[in-house]
Formats: sequence, structure tokens, C-alpha cells
Amino acid sequence: MAAHSVHDDVDAVLCAGCEECEWRERHPAIALAQMDPEQIDVAWRRAIAWHRGELTPNDAERSLLELINTFALLLSRREVLAHGTLPGARTRWEDDEVQFARMLCEIAATQGALDIDALAASMDLEPSEIDEVFDRASERWERAKRDTLRRASGEVA
Ligand SMILES: [Zn+2]
Repeated sequence: MAAHSVHDDVDAVLCAGCEECEWRERHPAIALAQMDPEQIDVAWRRAIAWHRGELTPNDAERSLLELINTFALLLSRREVLAHGTLPGARTRWEDDEVQFARMLCEIAATQGALDIDALAASMDLEPSEIDEVFDRASERWERAKRDTLRRASGEVA
């Protein structure tokens, strides 16, 4: 059973106040086993970000993120996977999210004639929202570059 997808509007993988999420909070191993790969990536990212003090998880996702972070630390200590790297994306090139963000940054940097109004209309968005997506892509790409520098400098835990 895939995790229910009623919380698409929030960043968290589990929500405090939701009965199903709170059940999963009490059974993090089962919750993890039932998550699809995309959700595991999100949870893995959040666990790493929490470990780095970049976010505070809500009460419902705390035990799941602790479990993931334990795995992440064990894998990094055994030099299987650098801490901060997603298990499914061994290289930056293989990480779709990073490459899509990178491509958006390069489009913004090199395609001066980009028709933002047409793009916004096609996506049913406001032009300002297109700018916001480009800004988010830029932040994601910069974070990927920082992560690479961190790994290159040997900071893996
Ligand atoms: Zn829920």
C-alpha cells in the first residue's frame, strides 16, 4: 500500500493531527517500507536537513526521520553513501531533480529571448510564478553544488 497522498500541500512526509500519519509515526519501519521511492527521497532529504539544523520536523515525522538518519549515518560511516546523498541517486548526474534545476538555471542564463508570458500562459501561471520557479531551481542547483563541495572536502557526517 502506498502512503496516502492527502498532504500534497505540505513539505512534510507525515502530518501531525492526521490519524493515518500518526499511526505511521508510531510504526516508522512499516511507514518506511510502504513509501514509494519519491517519498523516500523527500523523507531522506528532510532527515539530512534536520540533522544539519536546516529544518524542524513536525511531531508525526520525527521518528521516521530519526530512523532514516540512522541509516544515512551508518551508510556514510561505512563509506557506502556520502551523508546527504540520496540512496537512489549515486551521482549528481543521475539525480533528476538536480539536473532539471540545473537546466532551468542554464535556460534562464542563456535564453534571453525566452517568452515568459507564453510559458506562463501554457502553464496556467502568472509570469511572477515562472520567475519563482526559476528562483527555486537556482536555489536547488546551488544547494547541489554546495553538497558536492562538502563531499569533496570530506565532510560526510
Ligand atoms: Zn496523513
